[in-house]
Amino acid sequence: MISENIKSVKERINAACKRSGRNPEDVTLISVSKTKPLEMLKEAYAAGSRDFGENKVQELCDKIPEMPEDVRWHMIGHLQTNKIKYIIGRTALIHSVDTLHLAEAIEKEAAKRGLVVDVLVEVNVAGEDSKFGTSDIETNKNLIRNVSALLHLRLCGLMTIAPYTDDPETNRPYFKALRELLYSDDMRVFFPEKPVLSMGMSGDYEIAVEEGATHVRVGTGIFGERDYSVR
Ligand SMILES: *Cc1c(COP(=O)(O)O)cnc(C)c1O
Repeated sequence: MISENIKSVKERINAACKRSGRNPEDVTLISVSKTKPLEMLKEAYAAGSRDFGENKVQELCDKIPEMPEDVRWHMIGHLQTNKIKYIIGRTALIHSVDTLHLAEAIEKEAAKRGLVVDVLVEVNVAGEDSKFGTSDIETNKNLIRNVSALLHLRLCGLMTIAPYTDDPETNRPYFKALRELLYSDDMRVFFPEKPVLSMGMSGDYEIAVEEGATHVRVGTGIFGERDYSVR
């Protein structure tokens, strides 16, 4: 089941790339495995998945040693400063830097260990109260400037979580807004030549790819519905 799901998600990504004149090689599919048991992650790995997303530090730390070493782990959930020490140096990318306070705490831990940590700034494009990050443009621009100045962080791009919706088209303006923020005249200089746009989940990743996503985070579409009651 998981391998078929991955195959079909990839086909849909390829089709979205075709529609928008993009190269499928520029889109990374992250298998969001939060709450899912190791057997399912191993199935996804066997089907070719090397990028896995988790949103809880404890779960990430439990899973890392159980999976092959070439897995790239993506921290996609809210990160508390007191937990940075458990994941520092173990993630390929931290997607959820939403405050300068958090960025500085990662900086401190990374400096202590002589590491440079790849991060994204999380932007709450739709301004939803339930989500982390802010929609205020100036606040986000200041965060981008300040994060890029930290020596032990490498600001790779931006991430957003769009609203939950039955009609993915309604999220198109948010994906567009994230891309426009990154490519704006005053912000583009703070990002690398090939920047990361982490946007799009099971319900809307095709739209996100059409709007320039380089990383899509798909959970339900690969592993099925999550059951939080058993945890
Ligand atoms: C859970 C989660 C996802 C995956 O959500 P699905 O709708 O199951 O694809 C993506 N991004 C973040 C930040 C998440 O927490």
